[in-house]
Amino acid sequence: MTVPVPYRVTEREAETADTATIVLEPVQVALQPFAPGQFAMVYAFGVGDIPLSVCAIDGHRLTHTVRAVGAVSGALHALRPGKTVGVRGPFGTGWELPAAAGLDLLVVAGGIGLAPLRPVVRQALAAPERYGRLNVLIGAREPRDLLYTEEVRGWPAALTTVDRPDSQWQGEVGVVTTLLDRATFDPPSTAAFICGPEPMIRATAGELAHHGVDPERIRVSLERNMHCATGHCGHCQLGPLLLCRDGPVVSWTRARPLLMVREL
Ligand SMILES: Cc1cc2nc3c(=O)[nH]c(=O)nc-3n(C[C@H](O)[C@H](O)[C@H](O)COP(=O)(O)OP(=O)(O)OC[C@H]3O[C@@H](n4cnc5c(N)ncnc54)[C@H](O)[C@@H]3O)c2cc1C
Repeated sequence: MTVPVPYRVTEREAETADTATIVLEPVQVALQPFAPGQFAMVYAFGVGDIPLSVCAIDGHRLTHTVRAVGAVSGALHALRPGKTVGVRGPFGTGWELPAAAGLDLLVVAGGIGLAPLRPVVRQALAAPERYGRLNVLIGAREPRDLLYTEEVRGWPAALTTVDRPDSQWQGEVGVVTTLLDRATFDPPSTAAFICGPEPMIRATAGELAHHGVDPERIRVSLERNMHCATGHCGHCQLGPLLLCRDGPVVSWTRARPLLMVREL
């Protein structure tokens, strides 16, 4: 789908000071269903469009958690129910959770990276008989940056850490990789799903591979500026990959040599 389709904001929930979850419903025509890990290009009329991952799978409704970091994300974050946006998609590769049937699952999220991983956790919790043990490791800069706090409290195997605690914080402190020691999984029979800032992806995936998780079973979601989202403009090129088409979710086997190149 290359022409934006109108969707209306039907719900908005503030997650943190700069982040909100919006639910969109088609005004007339619905896009094809999205899979966890895929993204939409969401257009704030008159401002521009940006890639946003789906953070819930729910029929024709699209749910996105958006962090206001610039003009377009700021405009989408400011939208209230009743407003209309344009949406293209679905784009990109997904997490492919069903391929991990029978394996222990390790979901590792940093910051807004929990948004695209939330549907993975929800689907794994909905079908526990299909998978081994589920561990969800979540890192954030500060307690006030944590997403979906009420829902996460209900996830049985979730561990959370923050870089900078406040006076109320009683949980773990440190980067998310420090939680790996506390997770219970069998490395040769584990599938990992990682999304967050690139240094966090590198550290987490590298450590898991070092401990014997098959790099083919480590899936990471990579972000680059995207424009056309259809593999034509080249804005999101990373080595031989066009991330809007070949990503954003790729195996660590593919990502590792590309992320280990020092940026100039
Ligand atoms: C596949 C994909 C899925 C994404 N999913 C989400 C999501 O679910 N929720 C969410 O809040 N954000 C998500 N993003 C990031 C979001 O697209 C960017 O924050 C947005 O493009 C910023 O645009 P802007 O006009 O608001 O700000 P700009 O003025 O364009 O940028 C503001 C700052 O953000 C940086 N930036 C811009 N685009 C990106 C990007 N793609 N990745 C990293 N940094 C960027 C810029 O370098 C600048 O420092 C996703 C990005 C990709 C590629």
